[in-house]
Amino acid sequence: MENNRQQKMDKDGMKAYNTRLILSNIIRGQSISKGELARITKLSVVSVSRITDDFIQRGLIELVDSEQQGTLGRPSKDLRLNDQALRAFVIYVERDETYLGVVDSTGRILDCRTLTVHVSDFGVDDFLLFLRDEANRYFMERPDLQVIPIISVIVPGIVDNAGGFVRFSSMLRWQEVPLASKMEKLMPEFRFLVENDIKAVAVAEMYFGDSRAFSDLVVLNVGDGIGAAVIINNEIYRGQNNIAGEIGHIVMNQVGRLCECGQIGCLQTDIAEWAILQEATGIRSDFTIEEVFSSYIDREEWALKLVTKVVTGISLAINLVAMAYSPEVIILYGSLVYKFPILRKLIKDHYRSYINEYAKENFSLRFSRYDHLGHLVGGAIQAIIENF
Ligand SMILES: [Zn+2]
Repeated sequence: MENNRQQKMDKDGMKAYNTRLILSNIIRGQSISKGELARITKLSVVSVSRITDDFIQRGLIELVDSEQQGTLGRPSKDLRLNDQALRAFVIYVERDETYLGVVDSTGRILDCRTLTVHVSDFGVDDFLLFLRDEANRYFMERPDLQVIPIISVIVPGIVDNAGGFVRFSSMLRWQEVPLASKMEKLMPEFRFLVENDIKAVAVAEMYFGDSRAFSDLVVLNVGDGIGAAVIINNEIYRGQNNIAGEIGHIVMNQVGRLCECGQIGCLQTDIAEWAILQEATGIRSDFTIEEVFSSYIDREEWALKLVTKVVTGISLAINLVAMAYSPEVIILYGSLVYKFPILRKLIKDHYRSYINEYAKENFSLRFSRYDHLGHLVGGAIQAIIENF
């Protein structure tokens, strides 16, 4: 009896695993044949057909003529997602802004709403009540956007994604928050997933980015905080407690600046947006980050020094992830990178001189196609796959 139940659970687990595997490859391929799916997943064509026929019956995917010629001159068929069928509602919580959006399975953001709200002004429970009210208001106002019953919440910091916990977020000032279970009590019609912000972007890059043909990627975030997300063999590498990639808090300079995590001289105290501003306001108290870079373009002495130091810090971070994970591609992402073309140019021109000689040819450096809403896209895809 016990054995039978175990066997049934194993069989169900395997079926769910294969279903997700097929779905994730259809999402990545955008338009793909059964034969190609079988080749990638190493499942038999019969197993692939069993799963995809079920998808077709449920209206989740459709058959379209392939560009490639089939046997006997008949056009062969490819599988394509029905982009109307699977849509996810996603919440991305940042220090000063929270985003609510609906994303479809092709990675398109159908709608996004920005709430200006300073999270640390609230207690956690009050903030989550606020989130529930805003989400419900959103659903009332957009009844046309039917969504799946799983919601991803994306946050900066260390999260236990399996347990739905936020372990520590220096940016939000949250510690040990059982986010998923709290939200499920407030909105019992949904299941909640919790993911780290950079890892969510890495998922978006893996499915829809220009580097999606590669299987080993690192996304390096340079913005309000510094962090990396690592994809090895087409999967997020999480390490123990999901900490892999949290390089922003590696101490680089023991006599450096105090970090918001409580250590002195973390990597992010040289290159995070807040750290650059802290240094600039030593010159004048009301500098904005835009003025720092325009002063650089105007060749003001202090800005030349400060921006050069930032470029060096980012280059050292690139070398760090190149050596630690040896990816095929390193993708730079984050507010500093997408707001300031001059910074992108400086990094491109100078980073190689900071890379170890034998790692220089190992990877290519690219810039993410996503602005700050890449988080929503990655979170949505995780929820859509988890829905099966
Ligand atoms: Zn730190």
